[in-house]
Amino acid sequence: MLILDKTLESWCAGYPLIRALIALQESSWFNPGIAPCAEALADVGLTAADVADASARLARFAPYIMRVFPQTQASGGVIESAIQAMPKLQAALAAENRLELPGSLWLKADNELPISGSIKARGGIYEVLKHAEDLAMAAGLLQAGDNYALLDSDAARALFGQYKVAVGSTGNLGLSIGIMSAQLGFQATVHMSADARQWKKDKLRAHGVTVIEYASDYSVAVAQGRQQAASDANCHFVDDENSTHLFLGYAVAAERLQRQLAAAGIRVDAEHPLFVYLPCGVGGAPGGVAFGLKLIFGDAVHCIFAEPSHSPCMLLGVYTGMHDAVSVQDFGIDNVTAADGLAVGRPSGFVGKAMQRLLDGFYTVSDDALFRYLALAEQLEGIRMEPSALAGVPGMVRVLQETQGYRKRAGLTPAHMARATHLVWGTGGSMLPAAEMEAYLARGRQQLNA
Ligand SMILES: *Cc1c(COP(=O)(O)O)cnc(C)c1O
Repeated sequence: MLILDKTLESWCAGYPLIRALIALQESSWFNPGIAPCAEALADVGLTAADVADASARLARFAPYIMRVFPQTQASGGVIESAIQAMPKLQAALAAENRLELPGSLWLKADNELPISGSIKARGGIYEVLKHAEDLAMAAGLLQAGDNYALLDSDAARALFGQYKVAVGSTGNLGLSIGIMSAQLGFQATVHMSADARQWKKDKLRAHGVTVIEYASDYSVAVAQGRQQAASDANCHFVDDENSTHLFLGYAVAAERLQRQLAAAGIRVDAEHPLFVYLPCGVGGAPGGVAFGLKLIFGDAVHCIFAEPSHSPCMLLGVYTGMHDAVSVQDFGIDNVTAADGLAVGRPSGFVGKAMQRLLDGFYTVSDDALFRYLALAEQLEGIRMEPSALAGVPGMVRVLQETQGYRKRAGLTPAHMARATHLVWGTGGSMLPAAEMEAYLARGRQQLNA
């Protein structure tokens, strides 16, 4: 059997790490192709001005968001999460790996983001708002300078009700797009893969969203959604694999994080590196956040993607340079994981190609480890997240243990590592029904006691 005209043996000869990936071993790969931001940011085809435009759009919508989602009142309609230190979890990681872990471990708590409880509340909601703004302006319902709270009106809902929004999702993107679209008045359809959790489907249906279920994985759900939307001029398909709007919505996180780090007294510069560990599914969310971070912190920020060992699609795509031309299934990897937001077999070609010279590394985590960290984070830090959101936890250990010459190549001395901040991007979980969370915790505690 050939994979892109080559035998498996010849793939493995050229790319030896593939064997470990096929064997589902937890693996790390630090990217020798990384280049300075001054060179590589141009690969993306988007600029700081594009991120500023997205940020300004979110600011325009803040009065509307505050009005229709009262849980955002305290933040003035800004959808944002806090950062927090995790000293006890850091100590536990050090003990279990018999390592000193210099630097400090922090969490970006996107699991607590209002409205949809995951990182998708950034890009997903942003793209729906952008679409609504375009339509409302074209219809003359909205003018520059208006208070966008006026979109909470029968006239606006009547306008948006003539249009459809569709998306394919493993769950969380569907929640964000569905809830936001339905709130504005759009007819929303979410095409859900088999691994999506029942409660996410139930919640969407309760919001009046049409949920179409597929027996197969994420790629099929997306393809079906795209195809149905293509035949309907009034339907906007949110393209998780290729959308620059989604990507820019995620990228806005960086300027907010910059302010939070400064407020916490955390410096980020060449002498004080920042490592950010981002759970990766198709790549849009971590890619967009990493792009924003690189624009602000340049080479002082080191972005590393984390994937389940059963779904290492971005690692495989960037490592082989084949991007979306290969899937994990092509190599016999099953893409079956409890980390539903990360159960993606084929990466975004757009993100892989745009970001391949800006990402320091990639690693995989077993489901057992995700559950162990899930229980540890709850026990030690009182943090409750869904399995996907824990993928960033071992990142600090991977960096400090690596023997691929990465730190040396990046000029990261022990003195740098002693001053480093390691930020785990916690991507989802606060909307989990209590019973789901308890079941996850029970499985995690079993791992801890094993
Ligand atoms: C979607 C998601 C991710 C990853 O985002 P991608 O854009 O698919 O790479 C990570 N964690 C959670 C909880 C998610 O829902």
